[in-house]
Amino acid sequence: MNKLNILVVEDDAPVRNLITTTLKAHDYKYLTAPNGENAIMLASTNNPNVILLDLGLPDMDGVEVIKKVRTWSNMPIIVISARSEDQDKIEALDSGADDYLTKPFSVEELLARLRVVARRLAALQSDTNNANSSLFTNGNLRIDFAAGCAYLGDEEMHLTPIEYKLLCLMAKNVGKVLTHTYITSQVWGSSWDNDVASLRVFMATLRKKLESAPDSPQYIQTHVGVGYRMMKQE
Ligand code: CA
Repeated sequence: MNKLNILVVEDDAPVRNLITTTLKAHDYKYLTAPNGENAIMLASTNNPNVILLDLGLPDMDGVEVIKKVRTWSNMPIIVISARSEDQDKIEALDSGADDYLTKPFSVEELLARLRVVARRLAALQSDTNNANSSLFTNGNLRIDFAAGCAYLGDEEMHLTPIEYKLLCLMAKNVGKVLTHTYITSQVWGSSWDNDVASLRVFMATLRKKLESAPDSPQYIQTHVGVGYRMMKQE
């Protein structure tokens, strides 16, 4: 597989150097931007595969960069933020970011997130190759969207309509962190606190049917205070 070309958007030089040194050591191609305006320009002219985006930029909020890039591209965006508040991550994810890293982060964490993105890109690529396919596969999980059925191995899963809707939503966004607000608005058409509580309940029952070990889930990851992500299986 081709190595990713990564756009690193970070105004803090020591952090930027840590990231680029790591990328260089692992044979990734990269380019850097120190501010939002430069980032948007490079994203449109150099067509990177992934953007690593600091949220606190000198000229604009990183969320503005996400909104701008999303007007023409679905390229994966991993937000990097010094702010540990969940609200900033959530706003970035709801604006179209795929994932997040909170400073300070380790080199291993950064590399792990890039591997997730690489799998997501590979999944998007195979979707494009089978544009008319109504089948989704991920590990032992298979969804036949046209028939409205999901299977684990050879066994059909017995899901309630809400569980099926949840599973399809997670599958269609495999590799991407989805916020509670996004999921509830997609599944229930609204987002009240009540729905978030219901979501936890439905997610728990879905996991019992999906995961061989619900306490250490392989398919659906919990992001505490943020949301959930379906992991692409190796
Ligand atoms: Ca910054």
